[in-house]
Amino acid sequence: MLYFLRNEIMKRIIIPILLIISVVGCLVACKTRNSTNEIKKSFDTIFVNVRATLETDQVPGDTVMDAADDPAIWYNKENPSSSLVFGTDKKGGIMVFNLAGKLIKYHKTGLPNNIDIRRGFPIGNNRKADIAGFSNRASNTIEIYEIHADGDITSLLPEGHKPNFTGEVYGFCLFHNMKNSEYYAIINSKDGEIEVWKINGSSGIISLEFSRSFKTETQPEGMVADDINEILYVGEEDKGIWRFDLRSKSPDGPVLIIDGAIESNNALKDDIEGLAICYTGEGGYLVASSQGNNSYAIFKLTGDNSYIGSFRINDGKIDGTEDTDGIDLLNLRLNDTFPNGVFIAQDGKNTDENGKIQCQNFKFVNLNDIILNLPK
Ligand code: CA
Ligand code: CA
Ligand code: CA
Ligand code: CA
Ligand code: CA
Ligand code: CA
Ligand code: CA
Repeated sequence: MLYFLRNEIMKRIIIPILLIISVVGCLVACKTRNSTNEIKKSFDTIFVNVRATLETDQVPGDTVMDAADDPAIWYNKENPSSSLVFGTDKKGGIMVFNLAGKLIKYHKTGLPNNIDIRRGFPIGNNRKADIAGFSNRASNTIEIYEIHADGDITSLLPEGHKPNFTGEVYGFCLFHNMKNSEYYAIINSKDGEIEVWKINGSSGIISLEFSRSFKTETQPEGMVADDINEILYVGEEDKGIWRFDLRSKSPDGPVLIIDGAIESNNALKDDIEGLAICYTGEGGYLVASSQGNNSYAIFKLTGDNSYIGSFRINDGKIDGTEDTDGIDLLNLRLNDTFPNGVFIAQDGKNTDENGKIQCQNFKFVNLNDIILNLPK
């Protein structure tokens, strides 16, 4: 059964503490009013408990290790029930799952870490390709592949592309600027270097052109771009979530939308890992994997990214999720199992029905189970 955990004792104890912290936070905020950073004050957290609707096949291999990392959903517009889920196996390639979680393809494409997908990239001769981009730690490159409906992928950038920074490639996302139809690949390193590369393809040959760079102080990984509002969200793993302005003209300085380092903040506990976005009539949601407390925090996509609530994927017939790295979600009808879309999370500790540890996999959750139980 799904319900909110609104523990009255917690409220009685935590609210007064939060009030004190808010006052202190206010004083700090007033002192630093003119800085580029705004730190979100503490707030009351809400946890919705859901269960996995299904789990995927495991990462291939005989040894249990940290291997699965980041999922990305490819929406099949012509036949939504044939949509696919691409998941990285950082020990060896890209896994492709159908909506039942069955592994239908495995591509040995180096050591992919984070993956992202965009539709309709124009690639010469009026042709459009749905593309998957990922960071490849075998060659320290950005990779761009074309997605085919059967789950095959073909490289559009056969040599890959090395970023300017010298650190090892780590997090990755794509950005499709809806205002001018430009596409970008965004990559980071564990040193906090973030580079934005424009993807050119009108001639039919793909090339990457350096656009700009950003920086975080400590290790980032999870990133997601808001294609409508031209914003890049970056998870600085031990710190919080940053908002970088991707507009080319008069961009605002970076904003720390939520500080995970505040002790009383239960919505984000480090590491902050995967980030995902969906758009709704009311604006949309930003979801973050809060790895330190095995939960997912949801924020508004618009305004000051206010906190909406959190959810956990608990043990049921299928085991719940722990230590989640990458996540993705899609709020479109896929089939009868996912009538309004799906949320997908990497599971760091996949177990069988007896609690025995297995190779890692991904959990799929009916998005209705999450969205319909959040506070309005
Ligand atoms: Ca992991
Ligand atoms: Ca990480
Ligand atoms: Ca940490
Ligand atoms: Ca981690
Ligand atoms: Ca990761
Ligand atoms: Ca698990
Ligand atoms: Ca399992």
